[in-house]
Amino acid sequence: MDLKDLYQDVIVDHNRSPRNFRRIADASRTLEGFNPLCGDKLTLYLKLDGDRISDLSFEGSGCAISVASASLMTERVKGKTVHEAAYLFDSMHDLLTRDNANADLEPLGKLAALSGVRAYPSRVKCASLCWHTLKTALEQPEQQTVSTE
Ligand code: ZN
Repeated sequence: MDLKDLYQDVIVDHNRSPRNFRRIADASRTLEGFNPLCGDKLTLYLKLDGDRISDLSFEGSGCAISVASASLMTERVKGKTVHEAAYLFDSMHDLLTRDNANADLEPLGKLAALSGVRAYPSRVKCASLCWHTLKTALEQPEQQTVSTE
């Protein structure tokens, strides 16, 4: 695997200085995500204000891809509605799993930095762990853990 293809500037930056890397003491929902293939672990904290995700943060440890992806996700999703977050989940799912070389990456902004992961199937779960955790937190509030397997 050529790390240069994966570890672009955005990913390096977000892994070194993860955004929203903290606990939310009065979170509406807290969910743990685990990717056993790589050993990535994260705890996602989500605060809802009506239909809006007013705050979103995470803690955990994992590979550079998983940390950068969670950092980018929290930065992007914070302040969005639940509906907008679901749309972003679908867009990221497409980005990471489909051959969409001609797709318009513009709406994804910095999240498009993770498009290189698609070439390495074993790393796709590293990038998608935080997104699956977010989706589960929103759709199945009774869940306390989520695993990519
Ligand atoms: Zn990983």
